[in-house]
Amino acid sequence: MVTPIPAVKYSGISFNALMGLYLAAVLLPWGLSLIEGLEVRGWYEETVVFLSIITFSMMLLQFALTPRVDVVANLSGVDNTMRVHNRFGEYLGYLVLLHPFLIVLPRFIVAPSFAPGDVWDLFTQSETSTGMYAWSLMLVWVLMAVFKDKTGLSYEAWRYTHGIGFIAVIILATHHAVTVGRHGRYNAWFDGLWIVLCALAVGTVLYIWFLRPKRVAQQPFRVVDCHKGSSDDWYLTLEKDGDFPFDFDAGQFAWINTSDSVYARNDHPFSIATSSDSLPKLSFVIRELGDYTKQLGKLKSGQLVWLDGPHGVFTLNARNATGVVLIAGGAGIGPIMGILRELDAVGDRRPVKLVYGNRNIEQMLFLDEFEAMRERLNLNVHLVLDHPPEIFDGHRGFIDREVLSTVMDQPEHVNWDYYICGPPPMVKAVENHLKALSVPKDRILYEQLGF
Ligand SMILES: Cc1cc2nc3c(=O)[nH]c(=O)nc-3n(C[C@H](O)[C@H](O)[C@H](O)COP(=O)(O)OP(=O)(O)OC[C@H]3O[C@@H](n4cnc5c(N)ncnc54)[C@H](O)[C@@H]3O)c2cc1C
Repeated sequence: MVTPIPAVKYSGISFNALMGLYLAAVLLPWGLSLIEGLEVRGWYEETVVFLSIITFSMMLLQFALTPRVDVVANLSGVDNTMRVHNRFGEYLGYLVLLHPFLIVLPRFIVAPSFAPGDVWDLFTQSETSTGMYAWSLMLVWVLMAVFKDKTGLSYEAWRYTHGIGFIAVIILATHHAVTVGRHGRYNAWFDGLWIVLCALAVGTVLYIWFLRPKRVAQQPFRVVDCHKGSSDDWYLTLEKDGDFPFDFDAGQFAWINTSDSVYARNDHPFSIATSSDSLPKLSFVIRELGDYTKQLGKLKSGQLVWLDGPHGVFTLNARNATGVVLIAGGAGIGPIMGILRELDAVGDRRPVKLVYGNRNIEQMLFLDEFEAMRERLNLNVHLVLDHPPEIFDGHRGFIDREVLSTVMDQPEHVNWDYYICGPPPMVKAVENHLKALSVPKDRILYEQLGF
């Protein structure tokens, strides 16, 4: 029997703590290289060695920093994990591109007239060839990452090429490191370390592509219903198809695979909009955006689908807030509704404020349910519309600082938790407004609908 994917029962560590762990992991191989006791050379050579080692560590670590490696993603949540992956992926690109120039720079300073010939010899040696291939491939993939949205590639094609491209890069780069690296020449274990780390990185991708789907196949669900809940959003309800253990916490998300094969890499992440007492059923709010979400109406009731999840730490778990502010933009109402329904299900009496923004009134969901919840919960609802109808009892415009300061009208708000969910630019903007309104960073939890 394959072990079920467990629900997370704790609140994640902060972004700064995750960064600390990441930097420690990046520096570890360099730290180990110091205990080899090799002769210390000039500051320039030592700096280049330091940069080369941390560049390679960063490259290998990118493979662990993905949402499907639960042990890493659940440390601080998928958003923080992807923040580190994306931010350091960019620095990694610069470091890799700089690497050969740092190696040849001294030749141009010491003997400029011989330098071009020396550089040609260096780069055409067979020992450096894999490094050159890795570097050229990396250049292509960095450019693809930078211009991801302009390449016209579908997200699925992008995912495949990203994975395959970087596997090729690290295999070539590992060969380069063990062929020309100074440390491995004196101490074979250092080469062994790179080979093991490279194998782990490749193994991670193979796990995600082949072993994880095998596990996910143990979690079949069936479509109960998929209807338009608003002008732009589907409301999809699934039901467990079998007696397997499945639990989740309100606010978490899952990858939904509605294709014919559990191995197909065209699953999409969506947040669960119900609380766990809805099981064996669970529902999702899905906004029509692109190819996949626009054709959800084709789902048939009774159709088999798979769920990879639950994932994420955007939950009420292990928090000690005296009140809760829930801020949703568009489809961000999905997990926020899950959390509201959870508060309702457990009869939570803490004050709850909901700020829910959309472009127009036709996109608003659950208005009747909010009304009913107000009878049972200590709930205040603030609706925000960019294009409101003539008669509208809410805020006009975006969820900005003014709206938020109206909502946070009491001093004790510092001890509240703030949950933000919506498209990435909205989440970023609201996070900045909250910080400007003196909300402590560790009180802000967010889930972005996109990486
Ligand atoms: C943690 C998380 C939770 C989410 N929860 C919800 C939700 O509850 N409701 C909702 O409407 N949307 C949610 N989204 C966004 C949703 O996954 C995308 O809108 C959807 O996958 C778009 O697919 P598409 O083919 O229709 O659009 P496309 O035009 O192909 O994609 C639009 C954008 O969506 C993102 N995206 C597309 N496919 C994927 C994928 N397979 N994996 C990750 N990102 C992808 C990319 O940023 C892409 O640029 C969530 C996203 C994340 C990361």
